Amino acid sequence: MPEIDPTEHEIADLGPKIKDIEDADELREMLALEEDGEDRTPVKTLIESRIEKLEGEDDEETDPATADLSAMTVADIANMVRDVDDADVLRDILERERDGNDRSSAISQIESRIESIEGSDEDGGEVEVEYVPPEEKYPELDHPTNEKQWVEGTVGGDYRDMWVYCETQAGELVDVSKEMLGKARGLMDQYNADYDEDERVVAVLIGADASDHVEDVTAYGADLVVYYEDSRLERFRHTSYTEIFCDMARAGGELASEGHEAVDWKEYHEPRYTIFPATNNGRDLSALVQGALDSGLASDCSGLYIENAMISNPAKVGTAGDKKEFGRVLHMKRPDFSGFEYSTILCIDKPNRDFHPQGASVIPGSFDVPDPDYEREAEVVDYEMELDDAWFEVDVTEFDRLSGGVDLTGNEVVVAVGRGIGDDPTTGIELALDLVDAFDDADLGLSRGVITSSYAFDSHVEQYVTEERQIGESGQVVEPAVYIAAGISGAIQHKVGCDESDTIIAINTDPEADIADFSDYVIEGDLFEVLPRLTEAVERGELAAAVEASDD
Ligand code: FAD
Repeated sequence: MPEIDPTEHEIADLGPKIKDIEDADELREMLALEEDGEDRTPVKTLIESRIEKLEGEDDEETDPATADLSAMTVADIANMVRDVDDADVLRDILERERDGNDRSSAISQIESRIESIEGSDEDGGEVEVEYVPPEEKYPELDHPTNEKQWVEGTVGGDYRDMWVYCETQAGELVDVSKEMLGKARGLMDQYNADYDEDERVVAVLIGADASDHVEDVTAYGADLVVYYEDSRLERFRHTSYTEIFCDMARAGGELASEGHEAVDWKEYHEPRYTIFPATNNGRDLSALVQGALDSGLASDCSGLYIENAMISNPAKVGTAGDKKEFGRVLHMKRPDFSGFEYSTILCIDKPNRDFHPQGASVIPGSFDVPDPDYEREAEVVDYEMELDDAWFEVDVTEFDRLSGGVDLTGNEVVVAVGRGIGDDPTTGIELALDLVDAFDDADLGLSRGVITSSYAFDSHVEQYVTEERQIGESGQVVEPAVYIAAGISGAIQHKVGCDESDTIIAINTDPEADIADFSDYVIEGDLFEVLPRLTEAVERGELAAAVEASDD
């Protein structure tokens, strides 16, 4: 029986636990328990990839001619044959597999590798892929693109520049817009140097007061500012904002769709890259724009870089077994499994179909706000287009800014707890509240991990476990003098809600948890022991003295 039974844990709890297991057999036992239990695909993937990693570390280079197939998984065999170019060696492997385990999936992997080698030899290295548009291939299907006004899936279009949607809220340019402009500036400077190009950072502003922000977006890094201003755009609206952004993106260019006149500021078909803020409105807009432009979107990214990518996926390359280098690919890193794993998403063309712009939405706080340079100059375009009255049929007759609820933004101290309270959630909250009470002006914050957990709290603390107390990207952003984070790992979405605090004190059993990277003090220890001691120290006036002393 393995030490951890995965069926007794939530997916997010398992991430760090699995990472620490060094015994592949124990992991296999866990896998079997999961398969017999809830059989959750993400959990199985986590366990399998850990097994693969451990066994990969042990593996010496396997010689395909002598490899012991009976000890290999189908995935091992598939990986091994991918690098074998000699059809005779492959036939020998096939025979050995048939004489041994005789697994149909392993056999088909080997056969398809033989086929791809011999197929490409016969045709002089190129296998022609016959392209049939989906509408013709499946005429019986009511294809969703039938109704589309524009089909952007062209081949060989001309794409340039990185477009940044610069969101404003209540007349202010939001920080994430500045962060994205700074990141785009850095990426495109590097891109232009690497590829000997002269492509630009394009800032897009849409709103009732869009022109007010031209100077700022230029100072933060734009080379070209395209704005659309209309009093009806005071509030974000799905249809009109999407239509305007897409109209700008399609404007001008050789392959511009019918109805678009040439413009002197844009000679290409569509943007090469687009980035949007992963705010409530930015998330909506990014999905709508990228869908309308027939491309893809990596949402909630926290890292971006541009590099060439070597791809062997036949859907992208056109031929099984071949590899092809795709140039200038935007690599979009995003947290998965609640932040335990990072995926890198690529949006690349496939035969007969371009996927541009390559688009991402960016988690606020992922990049630094650059220093503005008000000496910079940019080309400015006051964009013109007709707005359809039908886009404004819904009137906003009145609105209210929500107040009330729990406001953690004005406290001197915030004591926040995370899933580290898992062993005894009620006691964890009680201990945090004791510490809150020891300060004059403090309140309780929570990580999202606690909100989404299925902990059973006793009724006297249950009232404190509400989304209103969540700190982070999708909760409150606080900047107290002291932020105490107990049992919180420090995922990027949490970090953006607290990292402007003057002093951050982390309490964690794992001194290498991400939160250590942005804390002033890390107390390595069990929060159930540390919190009461801190409370006593504060009651004796020691903590304030210690923090003040360290500031000197
Ligand atoms: P975990 O990551 O499980 O960390 C628990 C930590 O406690 C670990 O570091 C562990 O070492 C430590 N620990 C365990 N036992 C003890 C103990 N006895 N004593 C001390 N330490 C202990 N998260 C937010 O917080 N705010 C947000 O606004 C937010 N928005 C999100 C938006 C999106 C779109 C997504 C995808 C995720 C969002 N998340 C948010 C979730 C985020 O990615 C993390 O999953 C979450 O922050 C993890 O919570 P946690 O740190 O409490 O739990």
